[in-house]
Amino acid sequence: MKKNIRFETIAIHGGGPMDPATGAVVTPIYQTSTFKQSKIGEHKGFEYARTHNPTRQALERTLAALEMGNHGFAFSSGMAAIDSVLRLLKPGDHVLAMNDLYGGTYRLFEGIYSAYDIEFSYYPASNNQEFLKEVKPNTAMIWLETPTNPYLNISDIAMVASYVSSLKQRPLVCVDNTFATPYLQRPLALGADIVVHSTTKYLGGHSDLVGGAAITNNSKIAEKLAFVQNAVGAVPGPMDCFLVQRGLKTLALRMDQHAQNAKKVALYLADRPEISKVIYPDLETHPQYELAQRQMRNAGGIVSVIFKGGGAAGKLFAESTRYFTLAESLGAVESLIEIPAAMTHMSTADSPLAVDSALVRLSVGLEHVNDLIDDLAQALDKLGYSS
Ligand SMILES: *Cc1c(COP(=O)(O)O)cnc(C)c1O
Repeated sequence: MKKNIRFETIAIHGGGPMDPATGAVVTPIYQTSTFKQSKIGEHKGFEYARTHNPTRQALERTLAALEMGNHGFAFSSGMAAIDSVLRLLKPGDHVLAMNDLYGGTYRLFEGIYSAYDIEFSYYPASNNQEFLKEVKPNTAMIWLETPTNPYLNISDIAMVASYVSSLKQRPLVCVDNTFATPYLQRPLALGADIVVHSTTKYLGGHSDLVGGAAITNNSKIAEKLAFVQNAVGAVPGPMDCFLVQRGLKTLALRMDQHAQNAKKVALYLADRPEISKVIYPDLETHPQYELAQRQMRNAGGIVSVIFKGGGAAGKLFAESTRYFTLAESLGAVESLIEIPAAMTHMSTADSPLAVDSALVRLSVGLEHVNDLIDDLAQALDKLGYSS
């Protein structure tokens, strides 16, 4: 699509022309594993569905266009997308990562790739200058998540990208954009090389699929990712691609409402005596408030809170909400609540990435915000501070 087309329009039309075979307005679910060849090697662009599938291709085009990239690749999960990007590395390489990351990413780094002689180190990235001092001669990749899961730290993508551009051996800058989505921030436009997503979260948006994606503007990287995608085969099925594509059409609307609800929830929680700290990038108390204002269209739908009463208080709260469902995952229309230290980030226990057990992560959904706040109020009252 042309570059000056706006986000909402790309989200709806970015998959390319309507189905050429039938004129179907929505790209059909091409539930087929293989495609007829009229002669050997003569076909309509599709041979075997691990390599290409029209439903997947429509999704990959839309994702690329939304991220202002030229090449999009869909995967069977966010972890499969991250795994495919890590396959660009070779033994002896070093990856400089933030010390606050999705637990599964840390588990993949340490549990799988460190055995292949790839070295990972973890530093706070909120102070970019200090973080960038840790780049070594063999640093082949910088791994950023912004905002991070679950502390919502923000790092300055443009600053990191411009710093590495001055290096002789330029590491690739990869950004996990799952929390922000391309509606809030577009890392490739800020100079990153690769963007990855768990499409399970906001992009799908309805808690009904698991998927991932990687997007780049660099045609050499794209060639390698296409090779990995086909050679390794962690591809999503057409039904899941269809569901992500459908989710994307309302992404802008959803993200605006998620952020409105999350801000109200954050302000409400900040006034409650049970809570020692509310973390939300659109609160002036957030240490990178200015950067968040600059880098992101809005601050998204995740709010993290730390309980004065520690892990026990957080646990009682998280088990007492009604509309905030106690469950892993995030980014869907329904509100979810979880305790990272005991759930999504268990793999980081006793590591430099360990999460405070008193931290509760809220994924603020699209229910009416007053109902959400009433729900939080009744759960907080259970802690007995007001009596
Ligand atoms: C969930 C998540 C992932 C992993 O994605 P899956 O689809 O669960 O494999 C990666 N990064 C972040 C930031 C996530 O929240």
